[in-house]
Amino acid sequence: MEQAEPHVIREDIERWCGGNLIREPPFNQEFEGGDESQVQGSARVKKSESEWQNILPQDLFHVAREGGTEEPWTGCYVHCHENGRYHCVCCGADLFSSGEKFDSGTGWPSFSAPVVEENITTRPDTSQGAIRTELRCARCDAHLGHLFLDGPPPGRLRYCINSVCITLVPGSR
Ligand SMILES: [Zn+2]
Repeated sequence: MEQAEPHVIREDIERWCGGNLIREPPFNQEFEGGDESQVQGSARVKKSESEWQNILPQDLFHVAREGGTEEPWTGCYVHCHENGRYHCVCCGADLFSSGEKFDSGTGWPSFSAPVVEENITTRPDTSQGAIRTELRCARCDAHLGHLFLDGPPPGRLRYCINSVCITLVPGSR
């Protein structure tokens, strides 16, 4: 891989950190592969699709890297009420807390808010003939699910997440 230009790195970090750059890690070493920046103090993870395909199970690869959706009511966390934090299974980013999990009746794990908004990125998704908001992990760009506006008050947000993309780390919320 080519070495990333310094200004590209800086813009990237500022984007992820909402403009609140400034940490001074050894960029030159970390970026020599052109494959990492910073999200919430942890290194951003970038791999090629073939690299992901080699390390992820096929069902996870299909959802996380190809934007697929698991069948409703099939995911392991639909009915899960354990306390803990849900991390991105691809990269370990801290995404959701059991405290914000609620039963949406949709067949997918649903959350009213992420742990920190900076760890989730959104983008328009016009596939399947509908305008939806896609949710991705800010650290590794994995597809997670979609954002809907039919969640509980006061925010009314529903982060609809594929179970296969997250992993519960049991413990406190
Ligand atoms: Zn991730």
